[in-house]
Amino acid sequence: MLLLFDIDGTLLLKAADDHRDAIHAAIHRVYHVSDPTQATVSTAGRTDPWIARSILLQLGVSTERVDDGMHEFKRVAVEEYRRRCRPDLSAHLSPGIRDVLDELRDRPGVVLSLVTGNLERIARVKLDRAGIGEFFGGEHGGFGSDDEDRAALPPIARLRAGSDGVPYPREDTVVLGDTPHDIACARADGVRCVAVTTGPFRRDDLSDADAVVSSARELLAAL
Ligand SMILES: [Mg+2]
Repeated sequence: MLLLFDIDGTLLLKAADDHRDAIHAAIHRVYHVSDPTQATVSTAGRTDPWIARSILLQLGVSTERVDDGMHEFKRVAVEEYRRRCRPDLSAHLSPGIRDVLDELRDRPGVVLSLVTGNLERIARVKLDRAGIGEFFGGEHGGFGSDDEDRAALPPIARLRAGSDGVPYPREDTVVLGDTPHDIACARADGVRCVAVTTGPFRRDDLSDADAVVSSARELLAAL
């Protein structure tokens, strides 16, 4: 079974401030927007490039300029995040998640992977500093650096988890996340979804998932 974990609101809780500031700093540096915080963009469940594009378009930057700067934006956002990120994020681990990952890793046939809107290098720094990078192998996952649209990420993660160019089967794949966008990306790829209410959304908002749980510890039972 391939398990595609979201990061913010799922593996880590309330650890996104440095990340948000890094995105804003990168927008400022690359696009010379004086105050990116003026835009009102709902970021939960979105990819980093999607968030940047939404902020920029809202503040009057043209699509052409957004496209021209996007490669540089991704580079600078990682640089800004590395500089800002606190050395130890372990206090932000969702309670019980390390035990859950430990147990899942030991189950035969389980592959731990990621589907996150984070740029990959930001995701890797975040998980390493939270002490759970070891659970998520170097070649796996689907990230905001792969596509701006979260719905495109589960097929990318399945392809990377497959072998000889054959994607990991969708019937053996589960997305685990905390927002309606996590559920939507699972549906778009025809895979199952377990939602967790440790992020900004409540049970009613997540009722389209195959199962909804209220803590990391309950994930094992749902799976
Ligand atoms: Mg999330």
